[in-house]
Amino acid sequence: MSTPAPRPLFSLTHDELAALCVELGGRPFHAKVVRGEVLERGVLDYDAMTGLGKPLRRALAERAPILAGTEVARSTASDGTTKLLVDFGGFGETGGRSGAVETVHIPPRERGTTKGATLCVSSQVGCPVRCPFCASGKLGLARNLASHEIVEQYLRGRALGALSRSVVMGIGEPLLNFQAVSAALDVVHDELGLGARKVTVSTVGFPDRLRAIAPTKPRFQLAISLHTPFDEQRDELVPAMKGVPIDDVLAAADAWFEVTGREVTYEYVLLAGVTDTAEHARRLAERLRRRRCTVNLIPFNPVTDSEYARPSAEAVERMHRTLVERGVVATVRWSRGVESDAACGQLRVRAASASSPRSS
Ligand code: SAH
Repeated sequence: MSTPAPRPLFSLTHDELAALCVELGGRPFHAKVVRGEVLERGVLDYDAMTGLGKPLRRALAERAPILAGTEVARSTASDGTTKLLVDFGGFGETGGRSGAVETVHIPPRERGTTKGATLCVSSQVGCPVRCPFCASGKLGLARNLASHEIVEQYLRGRALGALSRSVVMGIGEPLLNFQAVSAALDVVHDELGLGARKVTVSTVGFPDRLRAIAPTKPRFQLAISLHTPFDEQRDELVPAMKGVPIDDVLAAADAWFEVTGREVTYEYVLLAGVTDTAEHARRLAERLRRRRCTVNLIPFNPVTDSEYARPSAEAVERMHRTLVERGVVATVRWSRGVESDAACGQLRVRAASASSPRSS
């Protein structure tokens, strides 16, 4: 009789894991022990789970591996930001394309603090939205990540240092893989212990989806990538939202605030001469001034072969000042880890072009 194929630990429900423990000679409560060891204590090796008998540990390692992916690259910037490229494989129908995603571990800026790091996780392999300034969508969408693959990014990230916040701002559009994202964030909230205020999900903001999700009172903060106050320009900068008026996005965000009681953050990429003009600043302030929200200004982080450029410090300052003067709460977020490609999808593009030099 051949042994069944291994299934990643976090792809099993609690009951399935309990049944497996019994099948392997253990007791149902061992399921809880195993999850607790991994999620609460950060143990990533069955051998270190001394509450389990040795034969059970061995058998579980074979049948329910804790980690399903393979770390294929790692880079650390001088500020300590570490980017992992993790390949989850298993998607033959996409023509053998890499199944790699990025997870970025960003330690706190202040030295000597007890605060943990922020972890940036991916929600899809590639991205179908294809924003022209973003590296993540350059190769299109290969597939959705499964929820256990999202959980695994947290396990790998925490192994680099304690976490106190997390952002779903890596590769992919989380609302287009929401079931898996939401299941993973439940585990992160309930068992890994990151509270609802500590997790932010960033999306281009499909209004219908936001309206459907809000009543479920999701346990995360919402960030919407707006990028421009002008409809025609948003059609270009966020192609998957073509034809969806900015007013509809803002109205869905207002409804989100009403239903969940949580304020929304707007992300705004500053592209030199494209989205950082005085006119953009005025119009953006006009659109947001009576709303309780925060605008996060993100100076463009140059990606390879990009037609866009980083904004000048003056343009960033003007945008910030215009918003604040007009009563809009705004912050500027300079990306960390730029010199090691640790920002925004570049490691994956690089790894892919290195492994298939002829691909465009
Ligand atoms: N798809 C989601 C989440 C991933 S991107 C979303 O669009 O919100 C997280 C943020 O980084 C988005 O606001 C995205 O527009 C921004 N971003 C992408 N590429 C960037 C770049 N090269 N420089 C600066 N910000 C970038």
